[in-house]
Amino acid sequence: MGHDAFDLVIVGGGITGAGALLDAAARGLRVALVERADFASGTSSRSSKLVHGGLRYLDQKEFVLVYEALAERQILLRNAPHLVEPQPFLFPLFTRGSGPARSQAARAYARTIGLALWLYDLTGGLRIGKRHRRVSIPRALELFPALDPSRVASAYLYYDARADDARLTLAIIQTAVHRFGAPAVNYTAAVGLEKSSGRISGVRVLDGVGGRELTIRAPVVLNAAGVWSDDVRTLDEGVHPGTIRPAKGVHITVHRSRLPVDAAVIVPAVPSKTWSMRFTGRPRLSILSRGAAMAKNATILGVMLGHATPAQAAGIHAALVEGLRNGTLRPVVGVEIPLKDAPRSHEAVMEAGHHGKVVLVP
Ligand SMILES: Cc1cc2nc3c(=O)[nH]c(=O)nc-3n(C[C@H](O)[C@H](O)[C@H](O)COP(=O)(O)OP(=O)(O)OC[C@H]3O[C@@H](n4cnc5c(N)ncnc54)[C@H](O)[C@@H]3O)c2cc1C
Repeated sequence: MGHDAFDLVIVGGGITGAGALLDAAARGLRVALVERADFASGTSSRSSKLVHGGLRYLDQKEFVLVYEALAERQILLRNAPHLVEPQPFLFPLFTRGSGPARSQAARAYARTIGLALWLYDLTGGLRIGKRHRRVSIPRALELFPALDPSRVASAYLYYDARADDARLTLAIIQTAVHRFGAPAVNYTAAVGLEKSSGRISGVRVLDGVGGRELTIRAPVVLNAAGVWSDDVRTLDEGVHPGTIRPAKGVHITVHRSRLPVDAAVIVPAVPSKTWSMRFTGRPRLSILSRGAAMAKNATILGVMLGHATPAQAAGIHAALVEGLRNGTLRPVVGVEIPLKDAPRSHEAVMEAGHHGKVVLVP
């Protein structure tokens, strides 16, 4: 790669870099990708493995984002049916309060969620071929027997998709390499940007196997380093721009025999919206935490499992947990707004004054 000149060099071999590589190569650009470790070894192999439109983004009125994500979901289902498949989701609604107010509140909440699911279907969800429906409490318990029947007010079933994130990333890179001849190398880190007359002219990379440093020439560099995008920018700008806020997710592992489940399950957090739990239906259970972003494992586990009623209603307790992976970070753009309100849409930044450098953040 050191001898060739490219139109574009991509830094980062996660799903963002992989997608950009394939897109650019398919358009006929001469493009190359460098990844400092294994492909997909960053966030793209540690996600919750869902290909979804983002039901909760409707709450933030991000209709365009949901529409686009559901359109992409459909493209992936069509293009990669061996890696992406439909996934039913159970959405149980729990009772709150007491007396007549309790059933009134439950009905109102069910209507709100029903409306959100209609919106999700109409925004593109229906293209999966099935629409959401209300299911009986016995059916909900069949799908997820650990639910506490005395606390389930009603339940919905809707559809999204799941994927093997790392394999999907690899398949996209393989297609770019084998079908379009775009080189992609791993164990090669970007260590600096080259400039000529104030314009980007290439990327300096360190070959992690041979130990050699070389320059890949290109007038445009795409920074697709995910949560490390600011670090790559620092190579050039000297100071850390601080534009990315890493949002932490935690996955915990519960053996299927201890917690049988036949659908993914969403348990919305009550009373705050800071926590949500998704039981992925495979032997793993994923709990996404955003609030306690930098807390220690034990604290997170304690907070998650001790967290008020939904967790208890779902019958989760510490003794069931076999493993915990804490520390997977996702890049969220925007440091000034509360994390839950931060936009989840992609952001592409063409850097003014640094002609030829583009930062792409998912
Ligand atoms: C807990 C959790 C659950 C999630 N669940 C889902 C989900 O279910 N569905 C979904 O769609 N999204 C999910 N996400 C979000 C999704 O995983 C990320 O948006 C996505 O993986 C980001 O991909 P990326 O390619 O931008 O970053 P990454 O996959 O992190 O890739 C960046 C790459 O850049 C490389 N790199 C960094 N510095 C350099 C350098 N100097 N030189 C060369 N390479 C470099 C890194 O090694 C890394 O491989 C989840 C995120 C988290 C944290």
